[in-house]
Amino acid sequence: MSSLPRVQKDDRPDFIDDAHLTELLARPQADAAEVQAIVAKSLAKQALSVEETARLLTVTDPALEELIFQAARDLKTRVYGNRIVLFAPLYIGSKCVNDCQYCAFRRSNPEAIRRTLDDAELREQVLSLEARGHKRLILVYGEHPDYDADYIAASVRTVYATKKGHGEIRRVNINAAPFDVEGYRKIKASGIGTYQIFMETYYHETYAALHPKGTRKGDYLWRLQGLSRAMEGGCDDVGIGALFGLYDWRFEVLGLVSHSLYLQQEFKVGPHTISFPRIQPASGLKVDDKWQVSDHNFKKVIAILRLAVPYTGLILTAREKASLRRDLLAFGVSQIDAGSRIEIGGYTEAGDAQVLEREQFQLGDIRSLDEVMAELLLDGYIPSFCTSCYRLGRTGEHFMEFAIPGFIKRFCTPNALCTLQEFLVDYAGPQTRAAGEALIQKELEAMTDEAMRRMVTERLEAIKNTEARDLNF
Ligand code: SAM
Ligand code: SF4
Repeated sequence: MSSLPRVQKDDRPDFIDDAHLTELLARPQADAAEVQAIVAKSLAKQALSVEETARLLTVTDPALEELIFQAARDLKTRVYGNRIVLFAPLYIGSKCVNDCQYCAFRRSNPEAIRRTLDDAELREQVLSLEARGHKRLILVYGEHPDYDADYIAASVRTVYATKKGHGEIRRVNINAAPFDVEGYRKIKASGIGTYQIFMETYYHETYAALHPKGTRKGDYLWRLQGLSRAMEGGCDDVGIGALFGLYDWRFEVLGLVSHSLYLQQEFKVGPHTISFPRIQPASGLKVDDKWQVSDHNFKKVIAILRLAVPYTGLILTAREKASLRRDLLAFGVSQIDAGSRIEIGGYTEAGDAQVLEREQFQLGDIRSLDEVMAELLLDGYIPSFCTSCYRLGRTGEHFMEFAIPGFIKRFCTPNALCTLQEFLVDYAGPQTRAAGEALIQKELEAMTDEAMRRMVTERLEAIKNTEARDLNF
């Protein structure tokens, strides 16, 4: 058995000042003029400061809340357009040395069924995901000596190498424990996209209460600076997140914005994505429900994050129920998972029901990828499996979408349409295919650049009539 990187100290600073953030949230509610001025800054595509974000978080007046929601909707449509990127999680192993109080994988949970996919099982899960049309995965691991950097890198390589027919995974992201710089270098060399680490809660006292001292995850600073080490180790594409429901949601939003600004300042590139999972039922769960986040406040989390960090992708996961996901997409979400199963081996072994003892927590939306695609299409979104920027070395694509005039028209929409066409030809059911063909026609008609329309049409025809796939702009 190989070992985890030895416990070391990170000399970087702790940039979360609980007292300051708490004081910002205790200030009186912002008035209409102040909210309008802050929102105008976001709509001019400038990131907000922690202080400005805090002003939006003080708002409880329904009319001012509506102003914030409307601005988030505008920013989303004006800047990101109607694309939604799709991915699926793939849980590799549930062994864990930590004891996070909210998680079914915690070491003190006797009900958890511990399992790690072996090579053949991993390939089987990947083939099953590919057969449904997935192209982008996030691999998820507990924190355990068995899941060291070499192991993670090897599993990534196995995923990329597992192909059948038109099935292939073109982007593998990771959600795993923080490593040392050397560990990240090894993992990066396997060709990963984003490395995600969620801080869970940025509030020190709560963090300490939920992550027992003496466990790996009990070291706040090691985790807080985990993605800075990732950057140093060459993973310049990182995802931050907080688990909502552990502490005051408004504080967590300030933590996420502080983290984002810190990475931007230190490495000249902010996080690629922000995740905001809400705590879900889990096997043997014991978390105080005092901090539960209502659906209304969850919508505020998304809208205010959209306004605070206009360059960053926002991920809404299948933890949430289908109907809520559908409503929340409009407020600035850019990525969702679909057809997700999180039992280890769940893509081939789980039936329609979820088995809590076999998974980290319960999912709210276990519709198939095809069903989610159909709904997105009927709602006017372009589901995208695009992996083009990252594979062509155009990293920081969200930044470029903003910064380069015409970027979405030249790259994002054409690539989204080509990957959608692949899905329609290779995997879709009849309803999805009809809705998809109609949306593609509409998008082609809306293109103002005649040469681009011709190029896209040629590629779409090639996908329909030949074996050509993966045609990137
Ligand atoms: N073990 C690694 C870690 O903790 O960083 C990998 C991540 S864990 C398997 C994925 C994420 O799921 C955690 O970071 C946490 O935010 C989230 N999570 C854990 N328990 C949860 C629950 N009961 N409901 C919703 N999300 C949960
Ligand atoms: Fe382990 Fe991660 Fe679960 Fe904590 S959240 S118990 S580290 S799998």
